[in-house]
Amino acid sequence: MLNFTVGPVMCSDEVCAVGGEQVPYFRTPEFSELMLENEQLMLKFSKAPNGSRVAFMTNSSTGSMEATVMNCFTSSDKVLVINGGSFGQRFVELCEIHGVPHDVLKLNHGQKLTKERLYEYDGKAYTGLLVNIDETSTGVLYDSEMIGEFCKKNDMFYVCDCVSAFLADPFDMAHCGADVMITGSQKVLACPPGVSMIVLAPRAVERVTNAKVKSMYFNLADVLKNMERGQTPFTPAVGILRQINTRLKEIEAAGGADAEIARVAAQAQDFRDKIKELPFEFVSESPANGVTPVHPLNADAYEIFMDLKDNYGIWICPNGGDMKSTIFRVGHIGHLTHDDNTTLINALKDMQSKGKL
Ligand SMILES: *Cc1c(COP(=O)(O)O)cnc(C)c1O
Repeated sequence: MLNFTVGPVMCSDEVCAVGGEQVPYFRTPEFSELMLENEQLMLKFSKAPNGSRVAFMTNSSTGSMEATVMNCFTSSDKVLVINGGSFGQRFVELCEIHGVPHDVLKLNHGQKLTKERLYEYDGKAYTGLLVNIDETSTGVLYDSEMIGEFCKKNDMFYVCDCVSAFLADPFDMAHCGADVMITGSQKVLACPPGVSMIVLAPRAVERVTNAKVKSMYFNLADVLKNMERGQTPFTPAVGILRQINTRLKEIEAAGGADAEIARVAAQAQDFRDKIKELPFEFVSESPANGVTPVHPLNADAYEIFMDLKDNYGIWICPNGGDMKSTIFRVGHIGHLTHDDNTTLINALKDMQSKGKL
């Protein structure tokens, strides 16, 4: 199998090996130590300001998006949601479900967020902002620094969903002033799905500590209190947390976050260079490194996905909804090489020679 989706992605051999081991009991000093090491590396890689903390959540990243909305905002807030695709839409729906007053800055698919558009909302008494730094459904990267400046100017609580951007695109939590950064185990961290991390800057730690959240499982104050000793309130996905530990140390040994970001960027560039010969078009104004959205000029995107899967053993990422026939995505995250890109291009060329593209 060769997997070019945007999660779950290919794991390294070391991470796979840990997945094959017995899962240990976790209320032990050894597991606490591993969790505290995970926290330190997550803080380092996200460039979080001093005093930041990490909540390790056993849920997919949508659970962490929901926990963030529930613990950081109330009906007294007025938040701005950047909505350029299906993940932006998810934040909109979460605000609706949890009764958080909000306005939506809607962008067309593939459109970047300009300063002009954003500053239409300047000085309008917003208390928070929700954004998916890489809107993975369209592969658009938003400017976390530009948005951070806007939030600082307007004293807004700044939430960044970096689920697919963390370790793929440059992100400096302290510098851009983000209060919350969310990511998940199955994207660039290249581990199995099941764990999601919420990095909280001091202002967010304070906010969740004082929150009156109506939930037992999604009570972040409880999560952070347990994490002081490297534990979680309830049984976490112990095996995946051990794989995350292996992977974080692997990244550290290979040069840290910046080296991993450079590797993903090079993997994306290699693919974008190689695919130029084929009858496709790119559809993003401000492409993120993690994924390339591709528009086939003469063929159905979903049929290409099926053909690659069934006849070549290669998985690309189909799109849902109204983009299903027009766009497929190729991921550059996980344990992939430039040779793997060549294998994919050769498969596409083979399809072309058979008149399918
Ligand atoms: C993948 C992704 C999510 C949600 O992930 P799940 O693990 O499926 O809940 C959220 N936001 C972005 C930007 C993503 O890429």
